[in-house]
Amino acid sequence: MNLFKYSDDNKRYHTFNYYLKNKYQSKVAKVSLNAGFTCPNRDGTKGTGGCIFCSSTGSGDFAGNIQDSLEIQFSNVSLLLQNKWPNCKYIAYFQANTNTYGPLKKIKACIEPFINKKNVVAISIATRPDCLETDVLNYLAEVNNRCDLWVELGLQTIHDQTGELINRGHNYQDFLDGLNKLRKLKINVCVHIINGLPGETYEMMLETAKAVGQLDIQALKIHMLYVIEKTKLHQLYLQQPFKILSRDEYIDLVVKQLSYIPENIVIERLTGDGNISDLVAPLWSIRKVTILNDIDKLMVAKDYYQGCKIKKPI
Ligand code: SF4
Repeated sequence: MNLFKYSDDNKRYHTFNYYLKNKYQSKVAKVSLNAGFTCPNRDGTKGTGGCIFCSSTGSGDFAGNIQDSLEIQFSNVSLLLQNKWPNCKYIAYFQANTNTYGPLKKIKACIEPFINKKNVVAISIATRPDCLETDVLNYLAEVNNRCDLWVELGLQTIHDQTGELINRGHNYQDFLDGLNKLRKLKINVCVHIINGLPGETYEMMLETAKAVGQLDIQALKIHMLYVIEKTKLHQLYLQQPFKILSRDEYIDLVVKQLSYIPENIVIERLTGDGNISDLVAPLWSIRKVTILNDIDKLMVAKDYYQGCKIKKPI
């Protein structure tokens, strides 16, 4: 018998794999795309310079090559995935930059070809919570009626003083407003948070997870902060080195954070996927599989499950 309700192996948290297999009865993989959008936190609309950790690719290091059409980007990656997992199905993931930032005509032109595309089971759109204009929201609501749709919202932290330090360009209330707009339309939302942001204590990171666990969200990605070469964060790190979480601290923190996330929320990610060639710190983050294994082991050792610390109503 499985110990955790949302698992068909010995996982103690609700993995994305488990969710996808049960929903689509098939292996499903995300195909990251670069649709050539920009970011309002770079061009002066919301801010300039972007978030200090963001790479020149707009946090889309594994998205397709912008020189290629979306169709070619998709077929290049899906062919590789097909070799690994024959009969694999896909999620078209608009990853790089802010994919709801631009004229509605352009947004539609990017998304429409993937709505009924063979073997594409869902569309996922990464964006900022303060970049959801009414015309775009109306279109997303329509897309949501035609296919499975996810919107991925970067939050990173609930602490506004950290948000200012990392030049996020929006505050926690802006995030709550954006989330509310999407949930009113019943659009599935995946939230991204980052552990290890400069100046944040263990307690602050835990508070972010606890707060997120109380929101109406459907999935969560937890990332470790990566210091990437040629970013503002890298300059800051060189000038005033800040504490980088150790591997053990990160694992311990993630296990604790998971205990405050309701079990129905899908955990899409527990470590990031930095571009190794540009990674300055933490170098331990490269060995992703071993980190996930050690998260599993610590959950067993502590007898923790996702959501185990949430008080159940009497
Ligand atoms: S909002 Fe996203 S794309 Fe824009 S600067 Fe921040 S991390 Fe990069």
